[in-house]
Amino acid sequence: MTKLEQLQKMVDESSRIVFFGGAGVSTESGIPDFRGVDGLYRQRYKYPPEEILSHTFFQTHRAEFFEFYRDKMLCLDAQPNAAHRKLAELEQAGKLTAVVTQNIDGLHQKAGSKNVFELHGSVLRNYCLRCRKQYGAEFILNSSGIPTCTCGGVIKPDVVLYEEGLNQGTLSGAVEAISSADMLIVGGTSLSVYPAAGLVNYYRGDRLVLINKTATPLDGNADLVISGSIGDTLDRIAVR
Ligand code: NAD
Repeated sequence: MTKLEQLQKMVDESSRIVFFGGAGVSTESGIPDFRGVDGLYRQRYKYPPEEILSHTFFQTHRAEFFEFYRDKMLCLDAQPNAAHRKLAELEQAGKLTAVVTQNIDGLHQKAGSKNVFELHGSVLRNYCLRCRKQYGAEFILNSSGIPTCTCGGVIKPDVVLYEEGLNQGTLSGAVEAISSADMLIVGGTSLSVYPAAGLVNYYRGDRLVLINKTATPLDGNADLVISGSIGDTLDRIAVR
């Protein structure tokens, strides 16, 4: 049996599939990842991206934070790709219970997925740090310098920066979904950002599949490892 046939068999035999993904899921939509071959970490900035996307940097260098954020993190024209679409189709067919994502781009929902745990928040939500008024992503994109609320407060994207904690409700929902899954597909993630990456350890079944272009620390534990594109791979899966 080919790896694709093995994947299809596992999907056919499962009814509580959970997908756990990261930035690699959106590279085929034109959004660069961090650690892939064309990732942001291979480009040169005045500060390393981890430092710019940290809570400390946000507090101390706000104008530079927003310059990088608007330029590299806000990809509002991006469209879902074959991976996002297939996952939405699997949910619609009653075979997939949840998508747990480290991405902040909102593309799973744009493709039609309903039960999405956004571990690191979303660029689509922004709020005033002083009065909590909500703002859309377009507002941030069209602002210049530090985006400011009508009350004078600073507007912060609802994304989890390095040094910040994850939302407890999102975290426990993701743990619950993964713990009760009968198949876990992990894809497009280097599994190097914690605590998010540790969530895959809550899966206890025997259908753990990894689909990634490069090796991950979980490859040795997986029941099936497919080295390749997540979009191409999921596109070939029949939903039945
Ligand atoms: P990462 O950049 O560390 O790793 C991405 C992984 O995906 C790499 O191993 C790469 O080889 C693989 N990959 C890239 N394109 C692929 C494809 N088409 N098919 C299969 N594999 C592919 O990403 P991460 O593990 O998600 O961690 C980075 C952090 O950065 C996350 O916390 C996330 O919040 C954030 N991030 C999000 C976005 C987004 O929202 N689209 C983009 C960049 C970074």
